[in-house]
Amino acid sequence: MKSLDAFADAKRVSLARRRRLRALAPTTRVGPAHLIRNGRRLVEFCGNDYVSLTHHPAVVAAAQEAAARFGTGAGASRLVTGDHPLLGQLEAALAAWLERPAVMLFGSGYLANVGIVPALAGPGDTVVLDARCHACLFAGAQLSRAEVVVTPHADVQAVATALDAATGQALVLTDGIFSMDGDRAPLEALAGLCEARDAWLMVDDAHGLGVLGHGRGSTVGVPVPLLVGTLSKSLASYGGFLAASASVVDLLRSRARTGVYTTGLPPASAAAALAALQVLQAEPERCARPLVLARRFAAALELPEPASPIVPLVVGGEAEALAASARLEAAGFLVTAIRPPTVAVGTSRLRVTFAAGHTDDDVDGLVAAVRRER
Ligand SMILES: *Cc1c(COP(=O)(O)O)cnc(C)c1O
Repeated sequence: MKSLDAFADAKRVSLARRRRLRALAPTTRVGPAHLIRNGRRLVEFCGNDYVSLTHHPAVVAAAQEAAARFGTGAGASRLVTGDHPLLGQLEAALAAWLERPAVMLFGSGYLANVGIVPALAGPGDTVVLDARCHACLFAGAQLSRAEVVVTPHADVQAVATALDAATGQALVLTDGIFSMDGDRAPLEALAGLCEARDAWLMVDDAHGLGVLGHGRGSTVGVPVPLLVGTLSKSLASYGGFLAASASVVDLLRSRARTGVYTTGLPPASAAAALAALQVLQAEPERCARPLVLARRFAAALELPEPASPIVPLVVGGEAEALAASARLEAAGFLVTAIRPPTVAVGTSRLRVTFAAGHTDDDVDGLVAAVRRER
């Protein structure tokens, strides 16, 4: 269709003019924090495999064995024949780890959020979320058809005001650790507000789990009735989950559309996550290392002390961020540029992340390369 391609081309040209067109770059991850791109071996400083378990021998072996024994795909939704026993085992292991009554797996963290919010809030209700929440929390809020109130970043007073004005049931959504800035949400204050006003607090801790709180995340010690996580970051696999009460999980098994109308996780993905969880629990020093390295990096560059393994180097314009990223790549370090609309206009950045598999020398090498940028 001519009009269709003309539409796509016009949009692409407009994005390219603003340096916002995105392109894939085939990349082979070959081991902890190392990858090959364009024939060159690079140290990766922008991934989310924080505990460096995607290449751990026990995790790889678990996935291989599950695929060999149980096949490569689930074959159907969980409610039909896709509920391999490994899925229930993983849910039980995650629930025990996070000290929650129940866990429900989803196909990804994105699918979890997009399924959970519309199952708990609808027209007449109010969903309050932080302006810097992950895109999938916004998507879930919009799909719910509740009134959506976006509050300024980390502004507890604005959340209180929104809750005072809310109609129907209020649901408050936040990242635990904000994915592009690495800062921690004001979770204690939000939890207190929500308890006082009978609002339901949902925390997406994709970047806290595995690294903070001895691996148990940014919410340890905070009453959070709805805790969302992913299997795709520290748990070195693919998938997402909700940890909540048995009542909530039971309801969502019938009502979360991204759980009902989609294929179950491949058994190998569940097996890998189970094995990764065992390593995480057995090796707390592995969980602690990403933050130790982030602090080493920040201290060397006289940046504020990071709260997580995510350290943003805000550059400003799209073109400048792309150029800085290209220079680091030439020096052997991959730090992808993050541009709008992922971050606000004028705050394009290098989002530097640290993983257990980085050596001290890797980090010091990056420090030297960033110093040359300044
Ligand atoms: C990465 C991320 C997700 C998406 O998780 P996937 O399992 O990759 O779909 C959700 N929320 C936050 C905050 C994230 O950073």
